[in-house]
Amino acid sequence: MPTNQKEPNHLDRNEAKRRDLAHAHKPQKERICCVCRAKDLATTRIRIARIKSADGSYNYSIDKSGNANGRGAYVCPTCIDQCIKKRALNRTFKGNVPQEIYSELLNFVKQ
Ligand SMILES: [Zn+2]
Repeated sequence: MPTNQKEPNHLDRNEAKRRDLAHAHKPQKERICCVCRAKDLATTRIRIARIKSADGSYNYSIDKSGNANGRGAYVCPTCIDQCIKKRALNRTFKGNVPQEIYSELLNFVKQ
């Protein structure tokens, strides 16, 4: 991975805020969709959580409660289709999100 990779500043800020709120979860908090970048209440979004496991690899899951530990990405229900097509979660997490997670998201679209 290149060391001079530019990261948008707003991501850094959001990450810092999220850490501050880690012990005081506020479900009414606004979150930015990883596809359309629109802000909306976290409760209207689908959260994908990434948790680092003991061996240093990452586990991804669809966080239906919105309260799971780990780094989260949010997507509006209407953006799921684009999220899957663009593999938007790979960009958000700067890593390879397993196909199973995208398949799980697809189930939300079908519902
Ligand atoms: Zn969206």
